[in-house]
Amino acid sequence: MDLFDKCYEFNKKIDYLKSHHQFFYLREMESAPAPLVRMKGQEMILLGSNNYLGLATHPKVISATIKAIQEYGTGACSSRVLTGTTTLHHRLEKKLAQFKGTEDTIVFSTGFMTMMGTIAALVKEGDMIFSDELNHASIIEGCRLSKAEVKIYQHNNMTNLEEQLATADPSKNKLIVTDGVFSMKGTLANLPQIKQVADKYGAKVMVDDAHGSGVLGDKGHGILEYYNMEGEIDLICGTFSKTFATIGGFTGATAQIVAFLKLNSRAFIFTASPPPAIAATVIAGLEVMEEEPQLLQQLHHNANFMKKGLMELGFTLEETVTPIIPVIIGNDEITFKTAGLLEEEGIIVNPVVPPAVSKESSLIRVSVIATLSQKQLEIALDKFKLVGKKLGII
Ligand code: PMP
Repeated sequence: MDLFDKCYEFNKKIDYLKSHHQFFYLREMESAPAPLVRMKGQEMILLGSNNYLGLATHPKVISATIKAIQEYGTGACSSRVLTGTTTLHHRLEKKLAQFKGTEDTIVFSTGFMTMMGTIAALVKEGDMIFSDELNHASIIEGCRLSKAEVKIYQHNNMTNLEEQLATADPSKNKLIVTDGVFSMKGTLANLPQIKQVADKYGAKVMVDDAHGSGVLGDKGHGILEYYNMEGEIDLICGTFSKTFATIGGFTGATAQIVAFLKLNSRAFIFTASPPPAIAATVIAGLEVMEEEPQLLQQLHHNANFMKKGLMELGFTLEETVTPIIPVIIGNDEITFKTAGLLEEEGIIVNPVVPPAVSKESSLIRVSVIATLSQKQLEIALDKFKLVGKKLGII
């Protein structure tokens, strides 16, 4: 068997999917992730982006980014621990600490590296991790790297989590780790109960607030604001690739933990610093959130309008309080057909099939942007109606 045989076999499968219109990955976008995006030369309505507040094309965010490139160049060309930390990185870390209500934060080059690098630096062989079965791959990778004993609990099942904690060796250090908003279905972790069992069994808690930051809570500060639990969680992490419309991530914790991570997390030390302009993008995004609270209101208005409209049409939705709307289809082939027909009608959505979701629960992941217009939402609903009826879903 040749090392690369797996590639040839894999590509045969991809060719099959492409020839059956069941391949929706690596699609080429020809413009910004705005409500209207160009694909194959056509204007499409984008219901598949995490640019929740529309900051990717916000004039203030764009001009702050350009200004930072002019002042600081295109990249810092070094690790954060050597000469890659700039005034902008420090300013961002301070601003994020205020945003999340923590003593300090550490900014990593991607969200993936944030989760992976935080867990792997803090949890070691002989420790235990309790991880939700639907946690993001970056958390799973961190768990593997840590060499700790990893217990997977059933999704959001607090009884199962407690059973596992109750039977664990009381002398071991323990971390419970969970996505705040689960990225495929938009459902929320039950943080109040997680915190309760964590306190009962002496475990620390880490939350990945990738999809909650900028989205949840009255001010958009995230899942801790939503649950009124600011300051109660040991490690609060997030990414800049969703609401903040760029790349990077952060962990908020006590000053002591952050200082430790800065000199012990390999994903922080042995990689290039995020370009200073990225820090400027996120700082500007945080300022826009303060100055234009109507963006957050508009986001939830759009999400609620879309949810109500889809339900009235007869689609089955899983309930969420986020702008991620899971339209449950069940069968993989019909899920792909739905996405394909919607694409032909000028609507971009993401089909989600196993292993990203469990068997027979494939779904269309709709995500809305604050800057989508009422007219665009109405057009999208009309197209859902057309496709849903054609495929016998509604
Ligand atoms: N955590 C969650 C819940 C995510 O959805 C993602 C991105 N898909 C990440 C972490 C990784 O973040 P990034 O894409 O910014 O590296």
